[in-house]
Order: sequence, then C-alpha cells, then structure tokens
Amino acid sequence: MKRLGSIAAVLLVFILSALALIKVYDKGKDQKPLRYADIPEETIDWFKSLGEGLGDLISDFNPEPRPLPWDNNGDYGQDPETGLTTLEDEYFIIYFSSAVKKKQAEKCLGLAHGAIPRMEEIIGKYYYPEDMNGRKVPIYLTADIQEYTEVVTRFGAADVAGRSSGVTISELSPSGYYLKAIAINGKYVFDKYLESQNYMKDVLWHELTHYCFFASVNYNYAVRLPMWSYEGIAEYTGIPDRRPTFSQEHIDQMRSECNLMATHFPYVFEVYDGGHSIFCHMEDKYKLEGLKSFLKTMYSKGIPTSMEETFSTTVPAFEADWKANLDKFKR
Ligand SMILES: [Zn+2]
Repeated sequence: MKRLGSIAAVLLVFILSALALIKVYDKGKDQKPLRYADIPEETIDWFKSLGEGLGDLISDFNPEPRPLPWDNNGDYGQDPETGLTTLEDEYFIIYFSSAVKKKQAEKCLGLAHGAIPRMEEIIGKYYYPEDMNGRKVPIYLTADIQEYTEVVTRFGAADVAGRSSGVTISELSPSGYYLKAIAINGKYVFDKYLESQNYMKDVLWHELTHYCFFASVNYNYAVRLPMWSYEGIAEYTGIPDRRPTFSQEHIDQMRSECNLMATHFPYVFEVYDGGHSIFCHMEDKYKLEGLKSFLKTMYSKGIPTSMEETFSTTVPAFEADWKANLDKFKR
C-alpha cells in the first residue's frame, strides 16, 4: 500500500507539472518573452539623455513592455485627420502631405531601400519588420519647416525642430528598442542647392544608421556610449563617399577640446564631423574589418573594452593617435 501510495503521489506530481507547463505555455504563446527584463538604471539614463543637447534624436524610456504586434496601425500618419498620404512597401512607409510631390516620396522610398546593404555592411545588421515584431520603418517626409515642426512636436520635442535636417524618434522598453518615427526636414532636403547634392540621401541614411545602431545595442549591459560614437558612425555610414575636412583652427580646437570618454564634445562640428573623422581614422589604421569588429563588441561592452579586445589599445592611446593624425583631414 505504501509503495502504491508513493507511485500515485509521483504520478500526481507528474500530472500536475504537465498541467502547469501547459498553462505556462498557453499564457506565453501570445507573448514573446521579454528581451530586456532587466535594463540597468545607467543604461536607461543614457538612453533618455540621447535627445538632450545638440543632437537629432528624440528618445524615451517606457517602463511597460510594449504590446504586440508592433505594426504601423497606431502611427501618427494613419490618422486621416493628419491629411497625410502613405506610400508603402514591405519594409518602409513614407508619410507625406499634399505639399510633397509623389515623385519625391518615391525617391525617398528608393533611397531607404538603397541604405539596407550599407547598414548590413557597417552596422552589422539591417532590422527588417520581421526583426521588429512586424513594424515597418515609418518615414515622415515633410515639405517645409512648418510641417517638420508639426510632426516633431507631435512626438514631444519642439526644440529639435528647425535646427536639424532629420530626426530619429525612439523608445526603449523592457520589450527592447522601438522606432517611433524618422522625420525628414523639407526645409533642407528640398533646398535647390542641397537637392542637387542629393542631400535627402545623406539625411535619410544618417537617420537609418541611428535606427540600426540603437537596435543593435545590448541594453542588458550598462552602456553609456558618447555622442561622437553614434553621430560619428551615422555620418560615416550615411556618407560613404566623403571624408570630413577641417580648417587648421578646427583641428587645433579638436586637439585641445575633444575627450573621447566625455559624453559630449563641446561643439556640433566636433561631434558630427569630428566623430566621422574618428571612424575614418579607425578604418585607416585597422581596416574596415577592424572597424566593424569594434562596433560589434561596443554594442554590448562599451568603448574601452572594445578598444582593448579589438585593437589591444586604450582609449587615451587611440585618442592621442587620432589627434596626432588629424592633419590628414586638413582642408
Ligand atoms: Zn544623428
């Protein structure tokens, strides 16, 4: 009897466990497991600070997991009251008003597609809708500064409006990185001269680099990447055929002011063009493969560890070497 009893007990435990498992499975099958259950405070603070200062980023942290699916149904441009038209394919949605020609929206869509191989090559991965719970990249192609301000304000940051040519608007939550929108400022991309320089491509590729870069960061780690790294790589990736150039005065200024471990460099040109020159110098010294390995490690482990593991060097040593070689960028 005693033995039978224990067999029954074991069976009962087994059945209960199986039932519990089925229950857990049922509960979980509609919801993807959280990728970032534990994002360190430091990383949250860093992500929230991306939009501060002189950047072209608006970012926010949402403590609640973002419900699925992450499709585009809730986009600002989906509301008929906005009066926006959509041009859509399998990866992107362009939202534009009647003040923007359809031909321009088609051009924008083509340029967005053209960015994909470049993102895969440099950033290491392009994030398709299937990587983003079904969400396509929403791009607001605005006609002028008014429309741009309207869109950007809608996403909660008026102070970026007007000054930037484009902006990437992002959210981090326990479900991971989420791209709310990319907006392109018509004041600049439809300027006659800049249009002749295909400036829309430069801006769009810069913003798409932000998207793929911030989607690549591993938010489980304590990451605090300086501004030169994400603005510099966006310039480097977005403008593959151009190296930055500087006056002697600006070179001297960067030599005395730019500390690679500081959150920001003091001036805009130092962050964007200076950051660009840092990646050009990295490529000169360690080849494209070195630069790509550096990024890959940096997404999780940050800059000092990646410098060490990838190049067997330190940040101060690399900084000194970059500064010593700045003359090659002289205008
Ligand atoms: Zn940027």
